[in-house]
Amino acid sequence: MTEITCKLLVIGAGPGGYVCAIRAGQLGIDTVIVESTKLGGSCLNVGCIPSKAMIHVAEEFEKAADAAAGRTPFGLTAGAPALDLKQAVAWKDGIVQRLNNGVAALLRKAKVKIVHGRARFRDGKTVVVETETGPKTIQAEAIVIATGSAPVELPFLPFGGDVISSTGALALTELPKRLVVVGGGYIGLELGTAFARMGSKVTVVEAQGNILPLYDTELTGPISKRLTALGVEVLTGAKALGLTPKGDGLRIETADGKERSLPADKILVTVGRKPVTDGLGLENLVLDMDGRFIRIGERCETAMRGIYAIGDVTGEPMLAHRAMAQGEMVAEIVAGLPRAWDKRGIAAICFTDPEIVSVGLSPQEAKAAGHELKIGQFPFAANGRAMTRHGEAGFVRVVADARSELVLGIQAVGQGVSELSAAFGLAVEMGATLQDIAGTIHAHPTLGEAFPEAAMKALGHALHI
Ligand code: FAD
Ligand code: NAD
Repeated sequence: MTEITCKLLVIGAGPGGYVCAIRAGQLGIDTVIVESTKLGGSCLNVGCIPSKAMIHVAEEFEKAADAAAGRTPFGLTAGAPALDLKQAVAWKDGIVQRLNNGVAALLRKAKVKIVHGRARFRDGKTVVVETETGPKTIQAEAIVIATGSAPVELPFLPFGGDVISSTGALALTELPKRLVVVGGGYIGLELGTAFARMGSKVTVVEAQGNILPLYDTELTGPISKRLTALGVEVLTGAKALGLTPKGDGLRIETADGKERSLPADKILVTVGRKPVTDGLGLENLVLDMDGRFIRIGERCETAMRGIYAIGDVTGEPMLAHRAMAQGEMVAEIVAGLPRAWDKRGIAAICFTDPEIVSVGLSPQEAKAAGHELKIGQFPFAANGRAMTRHGEAGFVRVVADARSELVLGIQAVGQGVSELSAAFGLAVEMGATLQDIAGTIHAHPTLGEAFPEAAMKALGHALHI
């Protein structure tokens, strides 16, 4: 059996793991990374990047279809569009491939050793990797678990055939005429909206009383309206029961307790993600767990000295940029630098149409934390750039402590607001006050102007409403 020794071993090359390894390499740490499938993890291969590529395809198709149907208010017409989904998926795969190569090149540049295979702990310092050429033993002073997450499977609706996960949905080369989505969260609504825009008849079955239950209904209102306009049927308070006897649809229990069958060509199940720890040999370690997730402290340390965990395997929020920030931090900790998790907020974006972005505390969370609040909300209906983009739905909302006027949270819903997350994140992280935001000149005409306007509204003197 080949023996490797190193200072740092990273298990999993998703955004958490590969960023950790690159930063460790930059710091001169002798680093090995093990990956069982493809560099880049869920995010790059079957998550963030491919989903955003397909959302873009859907957006472009809808624009062309609107022009063909004479639905634009500015007189654009065109012939009926056709979409070759096979080619769209190939384009998406090409982007993924380029990014895979990019991650490999970055790891090489940082002098990180890449080992392909599945890792399993033998003890707190030793991992055995099953590789194509046989098992390799790796001994490390510090080990980072960055094994990520996988889709949750419903026992009465197992994946296979026409029951697909997000991974299956992103690889479809034929548009399903009727798509039933179980779970109206991030993935269900991002992908459900995209398929509806490409022409599928989409039905969303959500167990809770609202779609995107993580967000307040003020934020999700414009999404619900748009789904209705797209012809998407949203069934909230509904439970999936299983396939119809012929397997050509989904049986559900509706909110009023009645049973109903929803005909479907494909059933996309997006009811959350679970940590990937099967086969990792956790039984050979003594870790504290939070349910099925690995419990960590403010330095991403686990209950065992020298073992860290980062990213989705540690639970919500399961976001790529959180995993990356944790990875970067842990590399610096292993290098002996004084680091701890001291972030004031992690931006979350839902890439629906319109998009939602949220950083820091919502009004409800801020109230629950004991703050008296000043809240300012500015509608895109009063923003010139939103009007010229034909995207007046939505608003920016700034939540501040009433006494200190410190900004506690910022939320927005609207077309293209994902790009505002940079300004929102910076404001929260740097401890901006309402005055700081109101006093910053924002270029005209941009969606960003709604941000100081919302701050001014909270201060009692918005200019354009
Ligand atoms: P992962 O990316 O899951 O990587 C873990 C890696 O570890 C995998 O490559 C896996 O093969 C490897 N591995 C597991 N076990 C072993 C083992 N025993 N040995 C060796 N290797 C192993 N997040 C966002 O922030 N923005 C988005 O827009 C977004 N969109 C998404 C869309 C979809 C459809 C999905 C599914 C997810 C999306 N996410 C998004 C979430 C994002 O993908 C995850 O938060 C992110 O990938 C987590 O990174 P990670 O490094 O923790 O784990
Ligand atoms: P989610 O937690 O966002 O949504 C799951 C939804 O399914 C919830 O609304 C839940 O109430 C519902 N649900 C659960 N069981 C159900 C059942 N039996 N029947 C009907 N509905 C049911 O999970 P997801 O959409 O699978 O996404 C997983 C994770 O991936 C998220 O936590 C998110 O952090 C990450 N993600 C992020 C992005 C992004 O940042 N833009 C995009 C996609 C995924």
